[in-house]
Amino acid sequence: MPFLQLDDGEVAVLEIVSDEARVIWQHWLKGVAFDCVGDKCPFCAGGVRKSSRFILEVKRAGEPFTWGLSKRAYAMLMYVAGGASSLKGVFVELARVGTGIDTQWRINAAGGPPPPPEVKPVVAPGSQVETAHDEMVALLNEIELLQTMLQKVAPDRRILFEPQLAEAKKKYTELFGELPDELDPISF
Ligand SMILES: [Zn+2]
Repeated sequence: MPFLQLDDGEVAVLEIVSDEARVIWQHWLKGVAFDCVGDKCPFCAGGVRKSSRFILEVKRAGEPFTWGLSKRAYAMLMYVAGGASSLKGVFVELARVGTGIDTQWRINAAGGPPPPPEVKPVVAPGSQVETAHDEMVALLNEIELLQTMLQKVAPDRRILFEPQLAEAKKKYTELFGELPDELDPISF
């Protein structure tokens, strides 16, 4: 299936066809993804960082697509899906804001049967799900920023960030459960 792609500002209502995600590993080199082939992978041998990608088959306006999500986006999807044991038949509204490394993905619940694309999303701004979603994104951003700072500062200054990081992680876990173990580093 063709990979699902959205432009900046575009919104898509997706029906998930897969029961669950298939996980693949990718190495990123100069903005290009290479699938990790496991045992004899040259990128692994070369110490190139790899990240997980969650693959789902979806339908958009009846057309089949393959949707690749970061661990973070997948965590949001699972939250929106309310911990359903199967994702099959779940409808979500996916929106892209921004381009390049500034891209943010927003995932909201959308009720089935599939509304035509021009219909407003079921989840209204300011609703509980919307607020929780915003808070989740804000916490993840904070955690990623603090982790990046910890890697960049001198060892004797880490004490400045460690308590904040522990606090943010604790809050996330209390509200949303397990943290995604692959967090995107922030680029400066
Ligand atoms: Zn590899």
